[in-house]
Amino acid sequence: MATDNAQSTVSMETLVALCKRRGFVFQSSDIYGGYNGFFDFGPLGAEVKKNIKDAWWDDMVRRRDDVVGLDSSIIMHPKIWKASGHVDGFSDPMVDCKESKLRYRADQLFYAPVILDGEAAGFVAYMEGAETSVIVKQAKKIRDLKGNKEAKLDEAALETAKEFTESTAEERTVTLGPDATAPGTLTEPRQFNLMFETKVGPLADDTAKAYLRPETAQGIFANYKNVVDTGRVKVPFGIAQIGKAFRNEITPRNFVFRSREFEQMELEFFIEPGEENRLKWYRYWIDWCTNWLVSIGLPREGIGKDVHPQEKLSHYSKGTTDLTFAFPHGVQELWGIACRGDFDLTQHQEHSGKGMDYFDEVRKQAGEEPFKYIPNVIEPSLGVDRTFLAVMASAYCEDEVPNDKGQPEKRTLMKFHPRIAPYKAAIFPLVKNKPELVERADALYRRLQKRWNVFYDASGAIGRRYRRQDEIGTPFGITVDFDTIEKDGTVTLRDRDTTEQVRMSEDDLVKFLEEKIEG
Ligand code: ATP
Repeated sequence: MATDNAQSTVSMETLVALCKRRGFVFQSSDIYGGYNGFFDFGPLGAEVKKNIKDAWWDDMVRRRDDVVGLDSSIIMHPKIWKASGHVDGFSDPMVDCKESKLRYRADQLFYAPVILDGEAAGFVAYMEGAETSVIVKQAKKIRDLKGNKEAKLDEAALETAKEFTESTAEERTVTLGPDATAPGTLTEPRQFNLMFETKVGPLADDTAKAYLRPETAQGIFANYKNVVDTGRVKVPFGIAQIGKAFRNEITPRNFVFRSREFEQMELEFFIEPGEENRLKWYRYWIDWCTNWLVSIGLPREGIGKDVHPQEKLSHYSKGTTDLTFAFPHGVQELWGIACRGDFDLTQHQEHSGKGMDYFDEVRKQAGEEPFKYIPNVIEPSLGVDRTFLAVMASAYCEDEVPNDKGQPEKRTLMKFHPRIAPYKAAIFPLVKNKPELVERADALYRRLQKRWNVFYDASGAIGRRYRRQDEIGTPFGITVDFDTIEKDGTVTLRDRDTTEQVRMSEDDLVKFLEEKIEG
């Protein structure tokens, strides 16, 4: 069970509206009415996403001695997906509605008995998380279809719902689907493979069939031998990769939380086999990942742990813990950390015929057996888009600050960690009709722009300019005023969260920003 992490306070509607209004995220193919499950990141969203990926890469690869990076291709030999088990087993149960032509994931669909005047009248099906009022409305449709509008509906019975995967053929004939007007339109659940297929080469027959990768991990396993043979890595070591993944999700939803094209940041960490060693590294990575999320600005109390019970583990898994986050739509998986044993490398060894044994020089020297083995793997796997959503939800705040006239004014601000913020600072000349001020501010802007993404704004009252930056989460506002050019060369630095202002020299300002942004 997921732990009770604190709920995010911003609603998904508010967040989606802000994302569109300020250019963080757009629906893909917007001008054609959108395309379900696909998103485009606008100018500010692209910066946030890049900052998340850069922070992960720096901390995971560049600042560690035991992890190297990789950038493998999206389309790989189809045999890889056969060996990994994806061709045969990467599927979700799916249900079609013959009337509405909509498709649902059976394990997210529930069905509840409709009891009218104490007698069974059929079932109503609804998607996980549906409001009670929506379920009752559907149940009343069954009552209307029975032609007895006066019949008493047993609302308590609607709470005794079961997963649709458990429904019998007989029950389905009297079940009203979430978007249907008559019962009996939902099909039996059947497995649906989530991999996107494509064709490679000029032939359009089955031999040309290939897949868009549904995870980046297999690119790492397929290159494990290349990296060991050409690099200087020694167990324990990791290979990390950031890249696109594609899943033909049956019901993409909750904004960028579940989409059909997304990005993953994955690490495969190769270790010596053995229960004790496995537990040591498993715990290490759970802690490392939790602390990393906090380091980029997620509240620790919003992060929870969902330890998968033994009986629900995948066949290859020796333990899985999901780090969950209190998203606006509920507590859900953000980062999966799995002990995959030696399953993947062993599979690739069998299917490719290439040996995946690791020759452990250290163990051999120490006279320890075995010194040749297939390493075990700990896999922390994180979605960039889900991290983006978690960052956006935790950054969103509303408060009241004094306006230019000293009166309280409501403001919306995004409290991004400076490392993640799209703009690190905004530079303002106090007024725009004083050439010396404008020149000085422009020179400072150009100087800072060489190192960071910064913004220049000379238009409007200074309070309004601050407010515009608050809403897009720029942590620091820097104003060049008359004192800068006439007195001591200092500028004003305003803090986004406290709105406090201090004066400092331009050189001190650069050091200050460096410390805040780069740590
Ligand atoms: P879920 O149970 O939510 O479908 P999963 O357990 O299938 O997720 P994994 O296969 O473990 O997910 O993928 C690793 C990570 O990739 C997830 O923790 C998540 O952050 C991200 N991820 C997976 N599927 C999607 C998706 N459709 N859209 C966005 N991110 C995703």
